[in-house]
Amino acid sequence: MSIKENLLHIKSSLPAGVTLIAVTKTHPAEKLMEVYNAGHRIFGENKVQEMCDKYETLPKDIEWHLIGHLQSNKVKYIAPFVSLIHSVDSLRLLQEINRQALKNGRVIDCLLQIYIADEETKFGLSFEEAEQLLASDAFKQLQNIQITGLMGMATNTDDKDQVRKEFRSLRSFFSQLRPAHPSFSILSMGMSSDYLMAIEEGSTMVRVGSSIFGNREYPAK
Ligand SMILES: *Cc1c(COP(=O)(O)O)cnc(C)c1O
Repeated sequence: MSIKENLLHIKSSLPAGVTLIAVTKTHPAEKLMEVYNAGHRIFGENKVQEMCDKYETLPKDIEWHLIGHLQSNKVKYIAPFVSLIHSVDSLRLLQEINRQALKNGRVIDCLLQIYIADEETKFGLSFEEAEQLLASDAFKQLQNIQITGLMGMATNTDDKDQVRKEFRSLRSFFSQLRPAHPSFSILSMGMSSDYLMAIEEGSTMVRVGSSIFGNREYPAK
């Protein structure tokens, strides 16, 4: 199937209220334009440099989501245009995002990335660290960021029960936080291999790359 067919097929399978992020990392502008020309406007990248390059060359009505690990010293490059940062994993990073958002006269929407996988390599806060961050005075002072929800990545495993259990734990944490945090509306979980299960477990935003674009052009983390 073509990229456009893949996109339309996936979109037609999503329930109302679930947003699709087309994960475009490693793919060239021509391929992104196939998705754009099919009407899609929400793209996800995991590297700052690559996202900035694509932002410069592609139409300006695209919403860019940063889904990969973000270093504080790179926030300034994306602060003028990023729509949502999915990967906030420290107060320090959030403070820098706030600083750069203020410089740009913006409020930047962010998700806290929560560590739910049984893998050493994945980034994110524990439930306890996220609660501490949200309760801290330093966090409450930040006027130019808004936490709009949580993001998590399940373990990369064939064990579907484990993946489901991880998604369920994040959903439950999200539900627990929501009453005290009315700005929370997004639960970003699910990628090509597991987005349907993630939706069953309450995801409102799925990040799908290879099921739209095929295999990546070069290996990306
Ligand atoms: C690459 C990536 C995805 C998409 O992965 P696919 O398996 O290609 O759908 C989703 N989320 C994050 C954080 C990623 O880095």
